[in-house]
Amino acid sequence: MHQSEILTHLGEERDKYFQAVSPPVIQTSNFCFRDLTNFRSAFRNELENHIYSRGNNPTVQILRSKLAALEGTEDALVFSSGSGAIAAAVIAQVQAGDHIVCVEGPYSWTHALLTQFLARFGVTHTFVDGRDISAIENAIQANTKVLYLESPSSLTFNLQDLAACAKLAQKHGLVSLIDNSFASPIFQQPAKLGIDLVLHSGTKYLNGHSDVVCGVVCGSKEKIFQIFNSEQMTLGSILPPHDAAMVIRGLRTLPLRMERVAESALIVARYLEAHSKVEQVIHPMLPAFPQYELARKQMSGAGGLFSVYFKAENLEKMETFIHSLKRFLIAVSWGGHESLIMPVAGFYGIEGREDSELPWNLVRFSIGLEDPNWLIEDIEQALAKL
Ligand SMILES: *Cc1c(COP(=O)(O)O)cnc(C)c1O
Repeated sequence: MHQSEILTHLGEERDKYFQAVSPPVIQTSNFCFRDLTNFRSAFRNELENHIYSRGNNPTVQILRSKLAALEGTEDALVFSSGSGAIAAAVIAQVQAGDHIVCVEGPYSWTHALLTQFLARFGVTHTFVDGRDISAIENAIQANTKVLYLESPSSLTFNLQDLAACAKLAQKHGLVSLIDNSFASPIFQQPAKLGIDLVLHSGTKYLNGHSDVVCGVVCGSKEKIFQIFNSEQMTLGSILPPHDAAMVIRGLRTLPLRMERVAESALIVARYLEAHSKVEQVIHPMLPAFPQYELARKQMSGAGGLFSVYFKAENLEKMETFIHSLKRFLIAVSWGGHESLIMPVAGFYGIEGREDSELPWNLVRFSIGLEDPNWLIEDIEQALAKL
């Protein structure tokens, strides 16, 4: 289906709501039945019928159908956060005694899900260098059930060869999952390469305006129903109808926004790469990136995130540079309209943070929708102080 068809029409039943162009927010907790025949038929499938908004809500359903179509899967679920979606999708695949193979350096709360949460319930894990397919295969044990990927990962931008990983998972009977937040379905559609479940922090590009926290799981009808029935209904981390309407609105401009941030990020990244006070720029679509060929093969673009190592004599100089940037906001998260920096230096002196072991001259940039030359002007004046 054409992207424009998905974003403008799919899932929208305008006959049911006065031909309103934008879908209504069906702000209700429950739905009533004309009679017991209707009641009984609804309860045969709680995922598809309207009974209670923890299960199914019409506004949420519009969003689900658009997301599934964007990723090229049969169905999708939405959650109240990306972490809620990741936790539900992973937990649905395992029981005590099972093992998970996961790429190194996943999103921090995915790391905590494996190392702290699932460890308490007897599920073990191995972290592997996802750049090396044989390292992944060697980590698979008799009790391995899950292959968890994040490509590119959101700090190192390391990639995995998705088609090869999907084949490996099929060969060993594993369920393959990927966090696809960085590329978005505009630039990478892992299900088409054979990955079973595609996950998103919808907080990032899908909503795109820094005003909703949301998560997504896309996959086959069978796998989605299993997650719905066993995790979403019990753990209950659902997306409220109003937030779903916000994300539907965000999706309308997703292709435009992705095109803009991809282009702007490359302009800013190339400027930085050529600057004498920059040691290295890590961006999957720069030819200097070690996995550039693979990036070009499996992604049609990259989002607005990249990392930069600056040449700074000491932490103090680094702080002066960071504080001199006036057009970038210092913040976590990314994927909104606004440009951000997340400097590793910000984690210095906080006990127990893994990030504080990363080099303090590393800064992650998230380029937003502003004029890239206006952003470069700001970087230029700040670099003069480094
Ligand atoms: C933000 C993020 C998450 C978590 O999503 P939330 O919506 O914040 O819960 C997961 N994966 C990646 C790559 C992220 O950047």
